[in-house]
Amino acid sequence: MAKVRIYKIAEQLGMPTHDVIEMLRGLGADVKNHMSGIDEELIELLRDELRFQRKKAEETRRRKERTLTIQELLPLKEIPRLLDTSLDDLVSELADKYVVFDMNKPLPPLVLERLVRSRGWEVEWKDGLRETAVQSLVAQIGTRPPIVAILGHVDHGKTTLLDGIRQSRVAAAEVGGITQKIGAYQIEVAGRKITFIDTPGHEAFTTMRARGAQVTDIAILVVAADDGVMPQTVEAIQHAQAAEVTLLVAINKVDKMGVNPDRVKQQLSEHGVIPEDWGGDVICVNISALQKKGIEELLEMVLLQADLLELTARIDGFALGTVIESRLDRGKGPVATVLVKEGTIRVGDSFIAGSTWGRVRVLANDLGKPVKEAGPAVPVEVAGFSDLPPAGTRIMVVEDDKIARLIGEKRMKAEREKNLVGTGVHKTTLEDLLEPDEQGEKELNIVLKADLQGSAEAIEKALSRLGDKDVAIRFIAKGVGNINEADIMLASASSGIVIGFNAKASQEVLRTAKREGVDVRTYRIIYDVIDDIEHAVKGMAVPVMEEAALGKADVRAVFKIPRSGTIAGSYVTEGKVDRGSLVRVIRRGEILAEGERIASLKRFKDDVREVTMGYECGIGLENFQDYEEGDILEVYQIREKK
Ligand code: GDP
Ligand code: MG
Repeated sequence: MAKVRIYKIAEQLGMPTHDVIEMLRGLGADVKNHMSGIDEELIELLRDELRFQRKKAEETRRRKERTLTIQELLPLKEIPRLLDTSLDDLVSELADKYVVFDMNKPLPPLVLERLVRSRGWEVEWKDGLRETAVQSLVAQIGTRPPIVAILGHVDHGKTTLLDGIRQSRVAAAEVGGITQKIGAYQIEVAGRKITFIDTPGHEAFTTMRARGAQVTDIAILVVAADDGVMPQTVEAIQHAQAAEVTLLVAINKVDKMGVNPDRVKQQLSEHGVIPEDWGGDVICVNISALQKKGIEELLEMVLLQADLLELTARIDGFALGTVIESRLDRGKGPVATVLVKEGTIRVGDSFIAGSTWGRVRVLANDLGKPVKEAGPAVPVEVAGFSDLPPAGTRIMVVEDDKIARLIGEKRMKAEREKNLVGTGVHKTTLEDLLEPDEQGEKELNIVLKADLQGSAEAIEKALSRLGDKDVAIRFIAKGVGNINEADIMLASASSGIVIGFNAKASQEVLRTAKREGVDVRTYRIIYDVIDDIEHAVKGMAVPVMEEAALGKADVRAVFKIPRSGTIAGSYVTEGKVDRGSLVRVIRRGEILAEGERIASLKRFKDDVREVTMGYECGIGLENFQDYEEGDILEVYQIREKK
């Protein structure tokens, strides 16, 4: 065998000659100097050893590099260096997850860990450091006032109640009795604060939720005792239940002659809202909004519920909040009513809100008075936006204008690109919705509208039966009448679909549905509804089937046999033909028949179970007779996809 000189090997391996000599000696070779020649076999051994050593060195290096040991609580601005990323990327990532960040403060431990892990690294904390970090965060948390929304049927007294609570007379000043948009306000009862959102009913409330902004803690449902539970009352109940907020009922207008609050309670129970004195857990308070009676008791009940909810928030630090509403002000430009969720917003703060950004120029409280700051659940009007932020937009205070602009511009660019591709919405069709969620669960949320109560109930019954252990079918709402915007928003907020049975949707409602990415399906026949949903549901509950090719045969002769029908004298060209398989008949490249069962399979006169490649056989199909010479029979099986 040829010998190779050591200096040549060293050259090939890119190693110093004396290292190679050292290693060879370690391997037991008899080496004198760099001119010594060694065997191919020894060279292979040398290469092997080198590969092993390099791999080991690499692994050690990686393990060391891939674990980040936190020695001290570093401010955020020091983190990019550790993660080998840019500060810009890091802050946009945090902003997109609505994590408030302060350059000069450490990140919450879990946030830091997630950032590190998402980059494929491990985290280690110096003893007790993580606990210290958690403790300092807990210390910043305090209780916050409850945020309350008032819902109910038109004219049942929402505005009058809000007005009574606020001790002013907005209702009298209203044009046409429609609730004005005045955002939110705060009152004080027994030294404690309550924040009211003055949105016009559940539509706005649900729109906010569809934007991912659930701000309401408690919903007060106003029901006029003289009118009882009305369609919008039912809608409000459904919206509140879908949002999983605590419901409190104010039975209003009890000052009127001959009204019976018990009748209202009866009606409420029929809709799944069971009053406390009827064995349920919903507090009902009789009030007269007009005469300002019972309001104090109602507010006490709100505080009682708030205590049960144990509402807390981080009080200090940069603010994160939600835009409740916005408008263009002649003097101030775009302004928005904001409810702070955590932290405190201050005049001069730089912020981002969706893809708009700005700096707080003026803060005004619910009375229109300028204030310097606003903490959790304190409604405040913010001036200083670069653009009008829609209701439901999250607003987040950041370090300075530079960062606000950086994130804002990034988002604007992403938005433009999204619009170009035309996929502006998160969820779309029934099929998409029936994809398993992160927990592997499949759920179908339905908002049902029908022409008659009876048909709505029939459909609910039939569709509920389609649910099983794999798929949960939930009726978020069902009602009588045409499909309206509120239905769409409710479906959007609940990631559901709208089913209309003999119920129409106007062009405008359909446009909203398109914008929100809500699938609206209308039907005239109950059977079609069931069939459609069953298909969708079964489509995923049933395992996916796939075709497995078994073999191919050429038809070489056609025999007509009395009583047995037509037989294709065939020659198996590929794989095999199995009696239990299915056949596809192909003529000149076109599919003539599909999924035909084999009725008979013969070799000469004998029935056989299978015929393999290279043999001739007679094939008879159950429901196909019209073979021609030259047809190709594709043989396959359908089986469960793994
Ligand atoms: P909204 O549409 O729910 O906001 O209802 P409003 O607050 O505008 O009230 C509708 C009508 O009911 C107005 O004429 C009110 O004066 C009247 N109203 C409201 N609360 C009461 C009440 O407690 N008693 C009586 N008798 N009338 C009331
Ligand atoms: Mg009103």
